[in-house]
Amino acid sequence: MTGTACSSTSLCAFAGAAQVLARLRTLSTHAPQSLVIEGGTEADRKTAALAWAATLNCTGEPATRPCCQCPACMQIARRVSRDLIVVDKQFFEESDSKKSGMDKIRELLPIWGQPPCGAGSRVTIFSEAQDLNHYITNLLLKTLEEPRPGNVFVLLAPQRERLLQTLVSRSFVLTLPWPEPQAPEPDVAEWLAALLSFWDTGQGWFERTGTKGAADRALALRLLSACQRELTLAVAGNTQHSAAARRLARLGPLGLRRFDLVLASAQEALNQPTVMPALVLDWIATAMIAKG
Ligand SMILES: [Zn+2]
Repeated sequence: MTGTACSSTSLCAFAGAAQVLARLRTLSTHAPQSLVIEGGTEADRKTAALAWAATLNCTGEPATRPCCQCPACMQIARRVSRDLIVVDKQFFEESDSKKSGMDKIRELLPIWGQPPCGAGSRVTIFSEAQDLNHYITNLLLKTLEEPRPGNVFVLLAPQRERLLQTLVSRSFVLTLPWPEPQAPEPDVAEWLAALLSFWDTGQGWFERTGTKGAADRALALRLLSACQRELTLAVAGNTQHSAAARRLARLGPLGLRRFDLVLASAQEALNQPTVMPALVLDWIATAMIAKG
């Protein structure tokens, strides 16, 4: 049985669900305190996390959990279970707007010190945990250092490299099937090739970005998303069809993580209308060279 009982409900509707659910079922016999879910799309990760919460709380037959039919499963699918906490954008935006994000997280500390309300586990899901600020990340790290009976944590991120290494090392990592990336369009592919060649030769980049009007915001954003796509391939070791991903893979795990941070900062900079796109692109090119 691979959860066919619930194939029509939202808990099991994500890429590779049958295999992932089978793994979650196995994992649930000795549930790790912290589970990192990477790969897939943001929606896939969230659904898989809810499926994990349901697996841990389902009252159905162990071989078919989550059954998606018992009250525990249904409450989790509707996100109304008292043993489910989802820390996402909505969590920070909802309720009392005077409280800071940090205050809201602090309010969870006494809850994590208590056993769950029901017979299963209390599951706290951190959606897109790579975006949490470092105060919250540190608080989470401290939380994971202490035993929290009946409480388990789930950290969602596109790739484990985007999370603090110390968080990942304390967690079990589950990888969902990687989304199929699309090849970049020819003009973006040319810019990407120029960027990678600049890392090796130190040449041919500033002529490009210095040409008036060549590097506008739209081009810069497309190049950024092409870089992100190749990074995803490189991180997954899925490089056989992409020379760019093979070049990126040579950066090694630390270099790939740095490139990811560089891309995130560049994305932020490009969101500010006063920042010149060409300068951001120059910064991407040199930020990776400066440190090797
Ligand atoms: Zn159930």
